[in-house]
Amino acid sequence: MLKAPLEYDKPITISPLITRVLADNSSFMTGPGTNTYLVGHNEIAVIDPGPYDRHHVKAILHAAESSGRIKWILTTHDHPDHAPAVKLLQAETDAPLLSFNSPSGNAPARQIKHHDRIETGEFSLQAIHTPGHASNHLCFLLENENTLFSGDHIMQGSTVVIIPPSGHMKNYLESLSSLKDYTIEKIAPGHGHIIDDPIAEIDSIIEHRLEREAKVLSALKEVGGRANIEDILPNVYDDVPSFMHGMAAFSLEAHLIKLEKDGVVGSDGYVWFL
Ligand SMILES: [Zn+2]
Repeated sequence: MLKAPLEYDKPITISPLITRVLADNSSFMTGPGTNTYLVGHNEIAVIDPGPYDRHHVKAILHAAESSGRIKWILTTHDHPDHAPAVKLLQAETDAPLLSFNSPSGNAPARQIKHHDRIETGEFSLQAIHTPGHASNHLCFLLENENTLFSGDHIMQGSTVVIIPPSGHMKNYLESLSSLKDYTIEKIAPGHGHIIDDPIAEIDSIIEHRLEREAKVLSALKEVGGRANIEDILPNVYDDVPSFMHGMAAFSLEAHLIKLEKDGVVGSDGYVWFL
């Protein structure tokens, strides 16, 4: 697959079965914006319609050529940069929403579970439950091309924020490792370019998180073994610009919750201790 330029609302063919439409919602949380993917040609599954943006939905319909071809709408999870456009797209199609559970504010979804498949004459798409970024997060594996639509489980070019309680660091790491059980040659992320070396990417994310975890423990030791999140945040995230520390505090809490589950630290709900 070629690394086609990221251009807003312009359908880009990235493989024989996949078209990408990028939403104009770039930010420090969403990178270049949300990638909406169309899978198939005659019967199309739309993955992550994106934010509530009529212009973007128009672009998705244009990419499908005929709204009648859109047969399924899938969401990887219910965050505001992935799911709100479901409503707009459903107003233009008869396509049901398939998700792990109903995203808030949308019509009831048809539930799709771990290892459920959508199969057409053109493709087979398998759902993989990957809790961690969000408890209801799904990835979708396009089995014909061994391409994984990773939503926010794996982003290209930025680190995923884990916000407890729906976000869960231990589950996140386990969900990353579990992807190695599948044949995956490419990752089509919710944000950023196609990732060509999935195993190396997965390993480097796990390594990065474990390095951060080690930093959490050493920062805790440095302040005498007892601290709240604010006490250790600047040390643990000294490589991250301070304007991002508000978001980093969530991931730090997620690390501490994991360490508590692992029996390494204790907590009274506010103070964390060794
Ligand atoms: Zn996202």
